[in-house]
Amino acid sequence: MTVAILILGGSTEAADLARRLDGWPGLRVVTSLAGRTAAPLPLPGETRTGGFGGVDGLATYLEREHIAAVVDATHPFAARMGSHAALACARLNVALLRLERASWATDHSEHRIMVGDWPEALAQLRRLGARRVFAAIGRQDMAAFAGLEVELLLLRAVDDQPPPAELEHARLIAARGPFAYEDELALLRDQGIDALVCRDAGGTSGRAKLEAAAARGIPVIMMRRPTRPDLPLAADIDQAEAWISARIHTNMR
Ligand code: NAP
Repeated sequence: MTVAILILGGSTEAADLARRLDGWPGLRVVTSLAGRTAAPLPLPGETRTGGFGGVDGLATYLEREHIAAVVDATHPFAARMGSHAALACARLNVALLRLERASWATDHSEHRIMVGDWPEALAQLRRLGARRVFAAIGRQDMAAFAGLEVELLLLRAVDDQPPPAELEHARLIAARGPFAYEDELALLRDQGIDALVCRDAGGTSGRAKLEAAAARGIPVIMMRRPTRPDLPLAADIDQAEAWISARIHTNMR
């Protein structure tokens, strides 16, 4: 008997989990991607791409594909997908786990300013008088920086597409993490960056920019994570693997 599980992907942890589960006997693993990246790295198992069509679309998919369990391993800021998963799984009584890397919000840092939205981040940049800003924020959020008067708005994204036209003095570096501490330090120094803006993405692969900013005494304006449904939580792929193993045994009984 084969048990099917769905990983809601788009994060490093989702890819690591798909690799960990590759080749498990009796397990069919499907990773779902939103399609935000033009050329995502290849994943083992099956993949599907694009929205499901809301809660109803996801519920239809779960039934049609006989999904026994779902791991919501979406990016910490992909909260709508997380909420749809909670509603669809509750409706069908499908087991659901949230796999989420640890937050950076509790790290001690004297140069950290937490904000709740992008207008608040822009207000903080103006208050600080920042002139050369590195906004490590993801393509979907870039347009929120329109109207910010700076000498340089440095952006970074996986896909090599120009920044939104409404952004003044913007320059985009196309690169895929993880980024090394020495490289982040050199970037901040060479570009004369005087403020860093980022989201509380958490985890290790994006941490080097925070360490580099701290080393240079640069303020970090960080967006708080959106709230998510209250779910069983795995902090790493070992915990997620144990949870899946238990679900498989339940389904095979
Ligand atoms: P979202 O607001 O949670 O999702 C919006 C819609 O995209 C969902 O309702 C769903 O469409 C679709 N979707 C999202 N994740 C999906 C997945 N894994 N598989 C299939 N469909 C998916 O997420 P978002 O709009 O992608 O991004 C919100 C924030 O998260 C942004 O700041 C973005 O930078 C960040 N982020 C997202 C991803 C990602 O892979 N999604 C990766 C890195 C960062 P339907 O309602 O049609 O099902």
